[in-house]
Amino acid sequence: MSYKNLMDMHVHSDNSHDAHHSVTLVCEKAVAKGLRAIAVTDHCNIIDYYKDKQNIICRQAAFEVKKAADVFNGQLIVSSGIELGSPARDDEAVRDVLKNKFDFVVAAVHRIKGKKKSFGHYDFNREANRPECLIPRYLDEILETVEWNQFDSLAHLTYPLRYFPPELLADFDLWQYRDKIEAILKTLAQNGKALEINTKGEPFVVNGQTHSFQPELEIVKLFRELGGEHITVGSDAHSAHDVGNRIAEAYDMAVEAGFKYVTLYQHRTPLPIKIV
Ligand SMILES: [Zn+2]
Ligand SMILES: [Zn+2]
Repeated sequence: MSYKNLMDMHVHSDNSHDAHHSVTLVCEKAVAKGLRAIAVTDHCNIIDYYKDKQNIICRQAAFEVKKAADVFNGQLIVSSGIELGSPARDDEAVRDVLKNKFDFVVAAVHRIKGKKKSFGHYDFNREANRPECLIPRYLDEILETVEWNQFDSLAHLTYPLRYFPPELLADFDLWQYRDKIEAILKTLAQNGKALEINTKGEPFVVNGQTHSFQPELEIVKLFRELGGEHITVGSDAHSAHDVGNRIAEAYDMAVEAGFKYVTLYQHRTPLPIKIV
């Protein structure tokens, strides 16, 4: 379907180490694609906050995005966001970065405890890096993050599945961890927080089931059944050309899961916007 109220609530600018284009170009592309709103959510890895000078980078990101919100006022709603990596591990660093008064805080786990790198860099030939070994640890850390609760939306739940080679996922039953998944979704719902549908990458198959997005349809449905009210949808674009990618398809999925609204955040306040 086509929608009037398309919003991309997860976009990176060149204030993220792995993204390529300026905030201005990202906003221009969003306008050209007819989006109503975007959230620029650059990376802030809480684990290495001071070591990697992220305190300075995040301030620069906040400055540029707030300026863009002013410049594009009337054409595009620009929400100043931040994607906190492993935020539950250092409250003091989180307090420091949130002095910047972002509109929208996304929580993510890209690197689990005991690992020096994020999921994209593992040697999947090693027994210790099989999905049965890593996914339960990942879900436990997501639950800790959700219980920590100082964010607005949970980014790309099931994100590590993007990185495993297809043969390791062919017989992998994600639902053996149903109790962990339910605990995460129930806590999010009870706390009034949002679940993100992240549209980055291509669909892949896990145990015979197509995962079009992170998370996939069954998880989004379960979130609704458990009382979840807020959904955010984001492309996780790291290039201006990818802004808005597959957002309409994700709206289709949100509707199928029982949602009538997607949520925009300004000043850390959820503003439900009708899916039309
Ligand atoms: Zn992420
Ligand atoms: Zn991201």
